[in-house]
Amino acid sequence: MRVERSVPASEPRIKRALVKFRDVLRKKSLRMTPVREAIVRGALEHTDHFDAQKLARRLQANGVHEASMATVYRTMPLLVEAGILQQTLLSSGEGVLYEIAFEREHHDHLVCTVCGKVIEFHFEAFERLQKDLAAKYDFELTRHVHELLGRCSSCRRAARARA
Ligand SMILES: [Zn+2]
Ligand SMILES: [Zn+2]
Repeated sequence: MRVERSVPASEPRIKRALVKFRDVLRKKSLRMTPVREAIVRGALEHTDHFDAQKLARRLQANGVHEASMATVYRTMPLLVEAGILQQTLLSSGEGVLYEIAFEREHHDHLVCTVCGKVIEFHFEAFERLQKDLAAKYDFELTRHVHELLGRCSSCRRAARARA
């Protein structure tokens, strides 16, 4: 039930993602620039949940000095539109977090409210029930975010040890 952690994207996968990204740029009459390509490549290197700031810092550390915070912030919605990233973890309270969506199986999250640990899961029964529910209300689903909040096993163990 646990979803495999994503691995950094291979070059062919990056190329396919760039094709999608170019389509979105074209629709908006925007040009592919070296910095935009670097942002796509940088985003696809992440294997976890990250924010725009972390991505900008990482790109700058790798010598992409044009990847200012403002530029990365502006580019993130384009990556979401291209299906490369998805917004995730609404309950974190730390602003918008992203994760790779491109060529990845859909998953949801269990979030520990004590230590912030995130467990990714895919539970087929949930997915089916959502479709049944939508059908019942004649509602067309476009996407969903499932976040189940609670305490992970190590935090519960630590709390027991303190008691
Ligand atoms: Zn925890
Ligand atoms: Zn995730």
